[in-house]
Amino acid sequence: MGTAAQPWETEPPGGQGQGRQSPLGNKAPWASRDSNYDCGVPECLFCGIAAGDVPATKVLDSERTIAFRDISPQAPVHVLVIPKSHYPNVGTLAAAGDGLLDEVVAQAHKVAVAEGIEDRGYRVVFNTGREGGQTVAHVHAHVLGGRPMAWPPG
Ligand code: AMP
Ligand code: ZN
Repeated sequence: MGTAAQPWETEPPGGQGQGRQSPLGNKAPWASRDSNYDCGVPECLFCGIAAGDVPATKVLDSERTIAFRDISPQAPVHVLVIPKSHYPNVGTLAAAGDGLLDEVVAQAHKVAVAEGIEDRGYRVVFNTGREGGQTVAHVHAHVLGGRPMAWPPG
């Protein structure tokens, strides 16, 4: 007798066994033009945002981090916090051990305060790797709030 599939055992809508698709497709749209990059990874979307080459709606800025609104918000408040330097995921950022992960998390909290959701509560998420749902390989904290969050996550 079989058991019902758990939510994490089924494909997301539109999934083809690959999880979510990269917003970049196969090629970064700005890769064919001149860039102002003097650091970072040229084909990385979020390095492009950090460098000011790719437009974003900035919420907060610090010396080593930037917070900007997600282009496809999943909640009334949906802001991404990134380090300005390139780390592929939260594990590599943690391994750097120079306090930058702390700054990213502290900035996520400041976003919640600035957006007025600190008291109600909010969620900070680091999607990591393919099964973790990561589609942009530059570490980012999602700050989500302004509505009740479900658990378990999809
Ligand atoms: P993840 O899927 O966890 O890697 O998160 C990547 C997030 O980046 C998604 O929520 C996208 O909606 C968001 N995103 C993709 N392109 C942009 C962009 N140009 N500006 C802001 N957010 C973006
Ligand atoms: Zn990057």
